[in-house]
Amino acid sequence: MFNLPHSGIKLNLRKEPALSGPVFCADMPKTAFLPLKSGGKDFYPEGLKIGSEVQRGQILAYAREDRELRIISPFDGIYEGIAEKKHPYYRRISCLQISTSGGGGEETTEDEAAAEGVIADAAAISGTDAVRGTAQDSGATEDVTAQGEETSAAGSVMSEDDKTALEEEDILDIPLPDMTLSQLAERAKAAGIIDETDGVFLYEKLLEADESCCAAAVSSLDSRPFASSGTAALLKYKKEVCGGLRLISQAMGGVSKHILIYGEECAGKIAGDSIGDIKLVKLVGNYPFMPMLPDGAFIIGVQAAKALYDACADDKLNFKQIITVSGSAVGNPQNIEAYIGTPIIELIEHCSLDLRPGRILADNVMMGQSISASSVVFPGLSAITVLTDKETRHATACIGCGRCVNVCPKKIMPCYILRDYQNENINGEDFRRAQSCIGCGLCSYVCPSGINVAKIVARSANVLRRAALYEHAARQGGQQEESV
Ligand code: SF4
Ligand code: SF4
Repeated sequence: MFNLPHSGIKLNLRKEPALSGPVFCADMPKTAFLPLKSGGKDFYPEGLKIGSEVQRGQILAYAREDRELRIISPFDGIYEGIAEKKHPYYRRISCLQISTSGGGGEETTEDEAAAEGVIADAAAISGTDAVRGTAQDSGATEDVTAQGEETSAAGSVMSEDDKTALEEEDILDIPLPDMTLSQLAERAKAAGIIDETDGVFLYEKLLEADESCCAAAVSSLDSRPFASSGTAALLKYKKEVCGGLRLISQAMGGVSKHILIYGEECAGKIAGDSIGDIKLVKLVGNYPFMPMLPDGAFIIGVQAAKALYDACADDKLNFKQIITVSGSAVGNPQNIEAYIGTPIIELIEHCSLDLRPGRILADNVMMGQSISASSVVFPGLSAITVLTDKETRHATACIGCGRCVNVCPKKIMPCYILRDYQNENINGEDFRRAQSCIGCGLCSYVCPSGINVAKIVARSANVLRRAALYEHAARQGGQQEESV
């Protein structure tokens, strides 16, 4: 049912030692910066005065267009004002600066990180009356395909001693509320859950889904050479992840449930092919690890599934996320569970630097965007990669080698887009192909001239998007004039 394409290239995975060690639970930062933009929405503070006290669970800001979407304080502290921070996708964002009572590590467990009851209050405000009850999970209705079983075989090469089975009794016996998709969406919205796989609000995806979905899946695929936060989150929170998946399946009428795992990296960590009626689909393939989904399949990330379970089954808000801090410059790569709003420099310092650092990338060495050490953990961030000074290449001119063309999984001839971009020729056939880019970063990875081709292609796609918007606006203006 789920599979990886045969295209792409084989990359050296460098997920160890971060994946082998336990997830480190970071202290509450002494000064936190809560982003006022996430999931493409802007938030506006309300009722905050500089120097005023802030309490954990207090609503600090609302989305302008929808007051049910809020930013809730993870901390007790003092509001210090607005600070600007660099964001990899939105350039610069405003953040609420909060001086916390943290830093001493007294509130570092997952239970303490939750503001219980806030979700229930939010649901009551918005009119949702979540029904509590015993799980009525109707079980799997479909088997994985032969391909899924074949790929799972590729993952089971470690000795039994190395394997940590996912204990079924823990997972299958937990009672779950019986909720509809719209009730799940309300809870996901009140909790402000972002799906780490695409940076979109989970409630939007749940509202778009319907009972006609054929399967529900959670992806722990860490598509980047250094990142392992998806796998680490699955191993640490298997009960919650499975619970979140079962809630979705239940709301979809009991569709089949799947957890996608990248076989090579999980071979020694996760044994077996199922957890009860949840299929473990172990995929092995080349980069980009983009599973081909069957029509009508619903898929979210591991951390989003865990947060959904927390919000719906435990009435808890999840203020933390697991982030892989790694890269050639990092001395002690680790998966760290950190509060939203924690300065990235604190996570890097915890892992120590072995070599002189060059660029710091958010998310991904292949398609990651630069951030600065003073940036902060934002919702959906799953990896920080610190490259060495030497790895930060300086680009020279394109030599027309064609490597980017050969490697591109979308066959869109990146070097021609680069040429058209430099010549400002935005009407050409080649240039228009930029819109099909999936941002895998392979063209930049293979370019011997060190050109960030993927970035140029992404910019080109933006140019086309803006041009289409202007054209649309001009057409509408023309129609209005005609009607007058
Ligand atoms: S052009 Fe886009 S899809 Fe093609 S290799 Fe580059 S980043 Fe990947
Ligand atoms: S890989 Fe780099 S140098 Fe080679 S054609 Fe593409 S852009 Fe030019």
